[in-house]
Amino acid sequence: MNVREKLAKLKTKIPSEVLLVAVSKTKPAPLIIEAYNEGHRDFGENKVQELVLKQEKLPKDIKWHFIGHLQTNKVKHIASFIHLIHAVDSIKLLKEINKQAVKNNRTINVLIQFHIAKEISKYGIAPNQAIQFFDEVNTLNLLNVKILGVMGMATYTTNQSQIRNEFKLLKNTFDTIKNYSYKNISEFKEISMGMSGDYALAIEQGSTIVRIGSSIFGNI
Ligand SMILES: *Cc1c(COP(=O)(O)O)cnc(C)c1O
Repeated sequence: MNVREKLAKLKTKIPSEVLLVAVSKTKPAPLIIEAYNEGHRDFGENKVQELVLKQEKLPKDIKWHFIGHLQTNKVKHIASFIHLIHAVDSIKLLKEINKQAVKNNRTINVLIQFHIAKEISKYGIAPNQAIQFFDEVNTLNLLNVKILGVMGMATYTTNQSQIRNEFKLLKNTFDTIKNYSYKNISEFKEISMGMSGDYALAIEQGSTIVRIGSSIFGNI
């Protein structure tokens, strides 16, 4: 199957209210254009330099999602155009995004990354620190960043019940934060979870955004 066919097949399995971010990291521009020509507009990248090069040469109505770990000193390179930054996991990064958003006279949408996997990773806030994190966020008054929700990655495992429990944990964390700080803020509604191997479980557990690469573009 080519990209067009894989994308069409995938779309039959994803409810229309769930946003599909086509993860195009490491994939060449012609493959992205193939999906673009089918009407797809949301693409995800995880390296700043690669994203900037692609953004320069590809159509300007693409909505670029940054899904990787973002270093504070690189925010400035993507601040003028980024649609959504998925993996914000520190106050320092949030402040820098706000600063660069002000410079570009825009608001930047972000998600807060939580560490839900059993794997040891440097990235993501511990779910039991969520309230503390948002208490701090709420004292800062960062007017040019808009927090739209949460993001997480499940453990890379074949154990379905483990993956399901990890997605449940992210959904619970989202609900806790929603009730605590965003009860009447309708824009706080996104749960970015689910990749090629586990998106069905993620959708079952309440995902609103799935990030899918290899099922669309292959493993090249
Ligand atoms: C690569 C990547 C994906 C997509 O993974 P696939 O298994 O290729 O679908 C999703 N999310 C993040 C954060 C990634 O780095």
